[in-house]
Amino acid sequence: MISDVTADVAIIGAGIVGAAAAFRLAEGGAKVVVLEAAAAPATGSTGKSAAGVRVQFSEAVNIELSWASIREYRAFQELYGASSGYDPLGYLFLVPEEHAAAHRASTDLQRRLGVPVAELGPEDAQALVPFAAEGVVLATFGSADGIIDPHAVTLAYLTMAKRHGARVFVDSPVRSAVWDGASWRLGVAAAARVSSALGATDPVASVAPVGATGPISATAGVRAALTVSAGMVVNAAGAWAGEVAALAGLRVPVVPVLRSVYATAPLPEPHRYPLTVDVASGYYLRSEGRRVIMGRSNPEQPPGFFQGGDMQDLERVVTFGMARFPWLADAGLDRRASWWGYYEVTPDDQPVLGRMPPLAPGASAWLNACGFSGHGVQQAAMVGRLIAEEALRGKATALDITPLRYERFLDESGEYRATRRRELNIV
Ligand SMILES: Cc1cc2nc3c(=O)[nH]c(=O)nc-3n(C[C@H](O)[C@H](O)[C@H](O)COP(=O)(O)OP(=O)(O)OC[C@H]3O[C@@H](n4cnc5c(N)ncnc54)[C@H](O)[C@@H]3O)c2cc1C
Repeated sequence: MISDVTADVAIIGAGIVGAAAAFRLAEGGAKVVVLEAAAAPATGSTGKSAAGVRVQFSEAVNIELSWASIREYRAFQELYGASSGYDPLGYLFLVPEEHAAAHRASTDLQRRLGVPVAELGPEDAQALVPFAAEGVVLATFGSADGIIDPHAVTLAYLTMAKRHGARVFVDSPVRSAVWDGASWRLGVAAAARVSSALGATDPVASVAPVGATGPISATAGVRAALTVSAGMVVNAAGAWAGEVAALAGLRVPVVPVLRSVYATAPLPEPHRYPLTVDVASGYYLRSEGRRVIMGRSNPEQPPGFFQGGDMQDLERVVTFGMARFPWLADAGLDRRASWWGYYEVTPDDQPVLGRMPPLAPGASAWLNACGFSGHGVQQAAMVGRLIAEEALRGKATALDITPLRYERFLDESGEYRATRRRELNIV
């Protein structure tokens, strides 16, 4: 039975962000423990995402985070001998007059930063996906944008982290976080069950540290609570990051917001539609094999862990969709193939990255990698590198993350304040 574990860094959450951070930290020589509440990695927002990756953001730091990550996903096979599932399906934005000036400013910024994005006229855009062009004055297309396989990437990072000695615990919800003056002591609830079939090739293990060659416990059952002492903590708890920070007495403004993805039944003809955003309504769709998947960020959805597909919004989603893509009228909705999950939303729709300011005991040993507001899959690869730099070298340098640091929420006197800039291109 394992009851006490020590580590240089404990990562809370085994989604794509925690996994990328685990790999980079372990690769950099840190003794890493990953704690995951669920029975398997990538079962939080990572497993519920639309899997899109794109460079078309309005804020420079988001463009750069995504572009660096896309390049890593694109080269994944050569770098790590595993597929990331990267498919440059493209992202196409259909822009109405009232958004054109702001969208062009973002596109100019993207070009200045050297990312692949092109302006298309409505007709060129219609060659990529049929749509009713009324009201569309501009279209932009990111040719390196597309999709990845978030499960595969998460498991690949965890497997590589394991090769560098990281230990990954599933069924291990962190329930308390206390700073003892030198390290964080994380209380992990007793597991509800113990897996008794842990193969050497499993990337993660219930109870067992990764790398176990067989069952840890001869009798499957309940394990004792676990205490993890770690010099540093990385909060990669996704939509739960605000709650996890509160365990440590820290205020990290991340709230869950329900988001649904609806799938059509397979269409009769093959298609390859880019992830196409109707900026006027916020509606998007893309090809998923023979199906089309679609959704929109419902601005009226209140924060909270509401469960189940947002069927109230479905009617509006379908209405917006059919107005722009009339051919959808022939596609039946397949509710069983549809799904929902949580965006992890901050006040300015931007992630919170890096070390906490010294607002409370132990805060300087608490690193945030959360608050991606619906674009964490596409930024995780670079975030893993930055978090490792911040932890191991004192400061992230590969990219200037000043705009994403916690300090943006504080005024000159250290009081909490509303932030001034926000990411505009939230899909
Ligand atoms: C419908 C939908 C569509 C999306 N589409 C896209 C997209 O196209 N592109 C994109 O980039 N992003 C998209 N996102 C957002 C993306 O899924 C997230 O930004 C990303 O997965 C965040 O990864 P993460 O590792 O931080 O969080 P998660 O994957 O949620 O991982 C956090 C983990 O922390 C664990 N945890 C929570 N509390 C505790 C605790 N107390 N102890 C231990 N573990 C804990 C959870 O179980 C979870 O596994 C979408 C999200 C949704 C819901």
